[in-house]
Amino acid sequence: MPSNIPPAPADAASRRAAKPAIVYPAGTMPEPDMATLEAARRALVKTHELIVPPRDARAFRVARGQFFRIVSVEGPQVGDLNLWNADDLSERFFSGKTRALHGTHVGIGDRLWSNMPYLRPMATISHDTLGWYGFDADGAGIHDVIGTRCDPYTNLLLNGTTYDFCCHSNLSRALATEVKADPAAVEHHVHDVLNVFMCTGFTKDTHQYFMKASPVRPGDFIEFFAEIDLLGALSACPGGDCSATHSSDAAACHPLKIEIFEPDRTALKGWTWPSPSAYHRRHGAHAGS
Ligand SMILES: [Zn+2]
Repeated sequence: MPSNIPPAPADAASRRAAKPAIVYPAGTMPEPDMATLEAARRALVKTHELIVPPRDARAFRVARGQFFRIVSVEGPQVGDLNLWNADDLSERFFSGKTRALHGTHVGIGDRLWSNMPYLRPMATISHDTLGWYGFDADGAGIHDVIGTRCDPYTNLLLNGTTYDFCCHSNLSRALATEVKADPAAVEHHVHDVLNVFMCTGFTKDTHQYFMKASPVRPGDFIEFFAEIDLLGALSACPGGDCSATHSSDAAACHPLKIEIFEPDRTALKGWTWPSPSAYHRRHGAHAGS
């Protein structure tokens, strides 16, 4: 702790006693129609599947209205997920706003929102076999939107070593292969992730970000409904189950499976597909004119 922290003022206790207010309370935004999604997913037909090898990533495409699953196979493994609008890489998953809207960890009924100026749901979580976990005695939950992704820059900063198979690099390679470019030319499109299956929280005393062994087991999956045409990329993190280390070859790592499903489209007939935000984007520049 720094030595120059100033003494608390006389009214510190009353200032600290101010009541918390939820920044974005439930009920202030349109909720997804989960009954319709349940009806649509009753007759899912698998159209594609692919394996993400350990310490590597793969890109995949999901059409609007399809469902996709990230499935645990072989052993506990954390995945780092990026999503883009399949037709426009400038629209991508906005981890920070998703966290502000839904909380530090996401589950069934929560949505993955895109960045500004689009700010619309890219995907809705339709099922999660780890939904039972909730928050444990350490305050940890599953599928966080806190962490950013392991990356070679932070690793070099903190450890002074070079490691080429962090999630940032894996996602950059997967995107580069998909768009036929060099990883260095596309890595700026890689963004803060959804940490699939990762078990994380903040320490109670210092509020530092911590991880612990993921409770995911083979057969577990998280399932998403694509609200727009998506290009996704998933990295099987070099941290494995993220119980101890990442950014190295030390942890036991396993593959992850991605499955894509076509639903019963008739059940989706009344679905409202999200448009980009209707905000006029003048930002006050023409006020009074
Ligand atoms: Zn990682």
